[in-house]
Amino acid sequence: MNLIFLGAPGAGKGTASKKLSEIIGIPHISTGDIFRANISGGTELGRLAEQYISKGHLVPDDVTIGMVKARLSEPDCSKGFILDGFPRTLNQAEALDSFLTETGRKIDRVIDIVLSESTLVDRLAYRRVCIGCKLSYNLKSHNITDNLCPVCGSSLMMRDDDKPEVIAARLVAYHKDTEPLIDYYVRTRKLVRVNSEEKIADTFANILAALEIKGMKQ
Ligand code: AMP
Repeated sequence: MNLIFLGAPGAGKGTASKKLSEIIGIPHISTGDIFRANISGGTELGRLAEQYISKGHLVPDDVTIGMVKARLSEPDCSKGFILDGFPRTLNQAEALDSFLTETGRKIDRVIDIVLSESTLVDRLAYRRVCIGCKLSYNLKSHNITDNLCPVCGSSLMMRDDDKPEVIAARLVAYHKDTEPLIDYYVRTRKLVRVNSEEKIADTFANILAALEIKGMKQ
């Protein structure tokens, strides 16, 4: 199964797509995670991406498309993949379609995670990431008061791009560049919309239902 998760920053794409990847056993590919790993590793790609990410802007298409094509060419993607945060522009979506056609594949479903803007901003303000195991938490919904990871005990940090001034720029980029993809995928009849205003478990159950995945332990 080849899937795309769409949605504004903070909608819950990462949490849902990682969980789905564990359950159905196909790789989770987050362009944001790949960029962050390169930033931590001090690579040339990381240094370039950081200039855009720190301002809430999108990394240029040629860099991002090349990176995703390379990842999708790895052997583990032959059994399927879940894209989280890619495509984010029409140009990326068209490049992805051409690349998949060339390699004899296609997208099966696009899950658009829908959330109101006020909830998005609230969720991003309370999002923290573990510096050890990199898991992401919401301080409010996970009831965390000591700022420590409940799984590995390391400190939790706010992502630099979750600071209010950067969030505003990320939402502008989402509305301008990424929202038009909803129509693009409606036209291909592959889009399913899932409301994420509810509890994480309910959102996830709706995603499984939309994908007609039954009998999986959540
Ligand atoms: P995310 O973790 O998906 O929220 O991505 C974090 C940041 O990485 C975004 O705000 C962008 O600056 C950059 N980024 C991630 N995916 C893409 C993409 N498909 N195209 C361009 N920039 C991206």
